[in-house]
Amino acid sequence: MAATVIDGRSVAAAVRAEVAEQVSRVSESTGYPPGLATVLVGDDRASAVYVGAKQRACAEVGMVAFDERLPADASSDDVLELLGRLNDDPAVNGILLQLPLPAGLSGTALTGVIDPAKDVDGLTPVSAGLLALGRPGLRPCTPVGVMRLLASVEAELQGAEAVVIGRSNLFGKPMSQLLLAADATVTVCHSRTRELARVCARADILIAAVGRARMVKADWVKPQSTVIDVGMNRLRDGLVGDVDFEAVAAVAAAITPVPGGVGPMTIAQLLANTVGAARGQAPGGG
Ligand code: NAP
Repeated sequence: MAATVIDGRSVAAAVRAEVAEQVSRVSESTGYPPGLATVLVGDDRASAVYVGAKQRACAEVGMVAFDERLPADASSDDVLELLGRLNDDPAVNGILLQLPLPAGLSGTALTGVIDPAKDVDGLTPVSAGLLALGRPGLRPCTPVGVMRLLASVEAELQGAEAVVIGRSNLFGKPMSQLLLAADATVTVCHSRTRELARVCARADILIAAVGRARMVKADWVKPQSTVIDVGMNRLRDGLVGDVDFEAVAAVAAAITPVPGGVGPMTIAQLLANTVGAARGQAPGGG
């Protein structure tokens, strides 16, 4: 293997340590610690595991976690009522509505009512608009986490060819905008892209967020490029990414593993967004 393996766990640990320091400062200046409310509707097991991990991560950096749960048969009005209450609660600095929601509830519509100042997932139309306009705002956690991983290996972004596979609102679109803001030349690919392998092969920075196990092969990858694997695919032999790791690591200069690459960054960045939101809401900026 020639490539540097980018250690997401250690970069995430550094982010958490920074957040813990900021939490102490905010707590001192406002008199109370930053608070994150997670909202879980229904009893999806994977979602419950993610929410539990977010709750624990908050406690570890000294933030308060509010664990809000509604039953699977909750109505849209029930969720709206809860989100409205959290929007108005000064002890809650960040609100995260865990997706997906049970059938019959619209994740897009309900996420959209979260106060943009508390939108720590960066998924409201206001946050998306601020990102598109290049104005300050809360950004989606995983793409920001990827930017930090790229910085950790000093990947040159200015003028670089960056290719993002995937155009979801959650990841691909905000990722492409962050790269554009960093002066990369960005191509966004999706299921209708022609000659995907050829497009990928010109990337200095290749980011895969598709959800297809080991789809990106070594001959899709430009020698000495940086490859970021966002995919999480649960197979019988464990969790694997969208990149054929062993083969691609022989070609690339740097690569993220799965697990231990992008995954740990998402929660770390959620904590960073929450303390950032608390500072933004504090009189005098925390
Ligand atoms: P998504 O909403 O399902 O989007 C997948 C994207 O991949 C779509 O844009 C789709 O194109 C594209 N695509 C599907 N098949 C393709 C193909 N054969 N060739 C090229 N593009 C193709 O998924 P997502 O939410 O962005 O997540 C993507 C992956 O990242 C998943 O494995 C997810 O678990 C993982 N993820 C991980 C984290 C983390 O914290 N590590 C966070 C977010 C996501 P169309 O738009 O044309 O359908």
